[in-house]
Order: sequence, then structure tokens, then C-alpha cells
Amino acid sequence: VGDGKKKKEEKNEKHLGLTNKKDDNFGEWYSEVVVATEMLEYNDISGCYVLRYSTMHIWKTMRTFFDKEIEKMKVEEHYFPLFVSGRALNQEKVHIEGFAPEVAWVTKAGDTKLESPIAIRPTSETVIYPYFSKWIRSHRDLPKKVNQWCNVVRMEFSHPTPFIRSREFLWQEGHTAFATKEEADDEVLEILELYRRLYEEFLAVPVVKGMKSELEKFAGALYTTSVEAFIPNTGRGIQGATSHCLGQNFAIAKMFDISFQNEEKEKCFVWQNSWGYSTRSIGVMVMVHGDNKGLVLPPKVASVQVVVIPVFDKDADKQAIFDACTKTVTILKEAGFRAEADLTHYKPGWKYSHWEMKGVPVRIEIGPKDMANNQVRVVRRDNSSKLDIPTSNLVEQVKDILDDIQKSLFDAAKQKRDASIKVVNTWEEFTTALNQKKLILAPWCDEEEVEIDVKARTKGEMGACKTLCTPFDQPALPEGTLCFASGKRAKKWTYWGRSY
Ligand code: AMP
Repeated sequence: VGDGKKKKEEKNEKHLGLTNKKDDNFGEWYSEVVVATEMLEYNDISGCYVLRYSTMHIWKTMRTFFDKEIEKMKVEEHYFPLFVSGRALNQEKVHIEGFAPEVAWVTKAGDTKLESPIAIRPTSETVIYPYFSKWIRSHRDLPKKVNQWCNVVRMEFSHPTPFIRSREFLWQEGHTAFATKEEADDEVLEILELYRRLYEEFLAVPVVKGMKSELEKFAGALYTTSVEAFIPNTGRGIQGATSHCLGQNFAIAKMFDISFQNEEKEKCFVWQNSWGYSTRSIGVMVMVHGDNKGLVLPPKVASVQVVVIPVFDKDADKQAIFDACTKTVTILKEAGFRAEADLTHYKPGWKYSHWEMKGVPVRIEIGPKDMANNQVRVVRRDNSSKLDIPTSNLVEQVKDILDDIQKSLFDAAKQKRDASIKVVNTWEEFTTALNQKKLILAPWCDEEEVEIDVKARTKGEMGACKTLCTPFDQPALPEGTLCFASGKRAKKWTYWGRSY
């Protein structure tokens, strides 16, 4: 090894590890972790990021699952243009009022000013529905179900956070039209269940399924359902994904005029849904599972599930150990795992830290003693536990360990989330819980003015508290229960909190 290379290595070794701690300065820890673990890079345009391989692997895994599921529901993949004309965008008044402040406009082509500026899609209802109007004529054209995977642009004015709140992000958006409201209602929940599975089964993040308040629903929707996650460190809720029933708001004649002739030859308007899931989910996963050493990846989505590292002193038969590492990787790969050997000349300790920081779920160490005993040493990323396993049983045991890590991550996250839930009945209990960064479940009268009032009363430097969702899974609400904020008769239990 040349002198220059050696110096560079020493420098690298020194710089390994995070400078921020998750429990001390969460925001800085998060910004550091996503870059240091090579998930993304910042860009000179605020709120825009480069998504790197390990991120795109996670995204692709979730996309593959979701595509397979919606294909069963007969949803058809499409692609619609990035640009929206001002005329189409302005068609649905409530919708555009909700999005107007965040829309990016193209006003020039080279030096030439455009006659009418063109918007970049913040979401594609107004791009897609003129085609629904054209394609849907008869009851035989229904249901119509399309999905696209694309980027959207929202010029968010609140502070951008990688993955969580970015100005350009990747998502899927599904758009569907039905003859009846019942069919639309059913699909809203069917999609919401897929979102729950993406969070819980893939990212190992617990979520609550529920209904958004009138104030928080999607602009132009009849109602919005969502899966809500929670970040215990900051005490903030986060909307994980949304499945909206748009009712007939976009379909009626003075909007997009999406109508069909029913079997009795009468003109009817369709019932519509739209639903979306974005790269925000990856940020939620980082926030929930990451620790002071870096990322902790659930095995199901990790681009590398197992890293194999040779361990030896100067007297050892280095080549034999390298060969054992390569053979181990081959066996694991043939069994369908994503495995890799690190045969670089860094010291084992450096490699351990490096792969721990990248969140690889399992590390296998192979040294002379392991070879003599026909075993390998397995170290788990989630709890640092070590286990020696016989090479004869490698595949079965690695499978069990990866499955157990996936489950343990979810269980630990759920335990932490559940421990953050605080049931309150009065305003005093509510403000105390809010200051303790709790996820608050409170009886509510379900009146918009009361939510507006709670937002105003809690507005401070930490941001206002709002409803996150009304969980579908409702605890009993005894007769005479009063709203924690207004003192009026409570109609439901609703989750409240500060949010991202
Ligand atoms: P919406 O169309 O507003 O219902 O958004 C659908 C989903 O996209 C939300 O539930 C979020 O998970 C996600 N999302 C919304 N805004 C952003 C953003 N600025 N950055 C990343 N994801 C977002």
C-alpha cells in the first residue's frame, strides 16, 4: 500500500461514525444519517435531493409489491404529462385553492415569455380527468382504474426535510372511477390496507388507520383516509399515505364532466378515488429505526441483507479465509439472500462500523477459529447479539435470523409508539401531554371551529397541534363524555399531535 493511500485510509477510519446523537439533537442526527449512509445527497436547490442506490432499492421493493397487488385489483399502469395547463389546473376550485401556493410555474421557453404559463403537476387529478371524461362513456367503461409512478413538485414553504417534506418527490398516484359510491368506498379501504402493509410488513413501522378531519382532508375530496405514523423522538405525527374518496366533486358537469350512460340509458356522474404513497415513507423508516451508529434497515427492504467479513491475524491463511467468505456469499446468494463479502484491506473494526452505519441487518465474521469449527459468527445489527452457527445449517439459520430481525424491529417500534400514546380528557391533560411529546388520543366534538381554535391556542415555536386522524379502531365512548377542548358532547376519539 502506497503512502498516499495509507494516509487516505487513516483519514477515512477517523471519520467513520456519526457526530450527532439521536436522542440529543435529532434533527442534525437525521440530516447526517441520510447523507453519511449514502441514501441521498443534498442539492443546491433547497428541498430537492439525489436519491442513491440503497434508497432506490427500498423504493423498488415497495413498488414491486404494490404493483403486484394493484394488478390483482385490475388497476392499469399509465403515464401522464408532467405539465398541466393553467386552465385544467383551475378547473376544480377547492382543489386549486388548496394547492395554489405550492404550484411551480414555467413562464419562459429560453428567452421567450410563454403566452400562458404552464404548471408542473403537484398531483395529477387535473391532468388525468380530462381523459377520464373522454374515455368513460358507458357503464361498460367502468370501473376505470389507473396508476402512475412519477415525480410531483410542491414548492413547500415550510422547512424541507429529506424524504419527509421535499419539493420534488417520487410517488405513485392511483385514480379510479366507479358507477357507485359503495364501490368507491370499498376501494378506499382496500388501498389503505396496502399502505398499512407497506409500512408495517416492509418498513416495520407501525401505523394507525383512520379518517382525516374536514380541515385536514385533501383539497377537493369528499373524505380522506390515511395511515399515520409517529416519531417518538420529536413527538410528531406524520401522514404516511392517503386514500381519498373524491365523491363526484371532480366529475360533475361544470368540473371535468365525467359521466356515463347507465343500463337505463340515463346520464350519471362517476364516483372517484385518488390515492398516493411517496418516498416520505423511507424517511419515516430512517427516523423510527435508526440509532447512534447509523441506519437500521429492515431485512425485507435492505439492498444488502448480509455482509461477510474476514477476520485474521498475520499468521493466518488469509487466502483460505477469503475463499470461505466468498463461498459463504455464493451459498447465501443461491438461496436468494442479498449478500456481499467485504474483502477490502480495511481493518475488521473499521468494516464493522462501516456496515453498521449503513444499517445492514446481519454481519457474518469468518476467522481461523470459525473455519476450524466449521462455523461462522453472526452479529445482528438491531440488538448487537452474537451467535455462532454451523456452516451446514447456514441458510436456514440466516433465514430465521432475518425474519426475526424484521419482526423484532416492528415489535420494538410498536412498543415505543404505544408507550407514547396518552389518553386525555381535559385541556390541562392535553397541554401537559403535548409538552411531553405524546401522541394524544382525546374525545372530540368533531367541529371544525374547535380544531381551528386548538391550532391557534397551541401555536408556538414548536408548531401548532392538529388532528392526525380519527382511528377506525375506536375505543368505547361512554355516554356523556365531553370534548377535551370545547366541553361540548364528544362524538369520537381522535388522535392529536404536532406533525411533520
Ligand atoms: P396528498 O396528495 O397530499 O394526499 O399526498 C399523498 C402522500 O404523499 C401523503 O400522504 C404523503 O405521504 C406524501 N407527501 C405529501 N407531501 C409530500 C412532500 N412534500 N414530500 C414527500 N411526501 C409528501
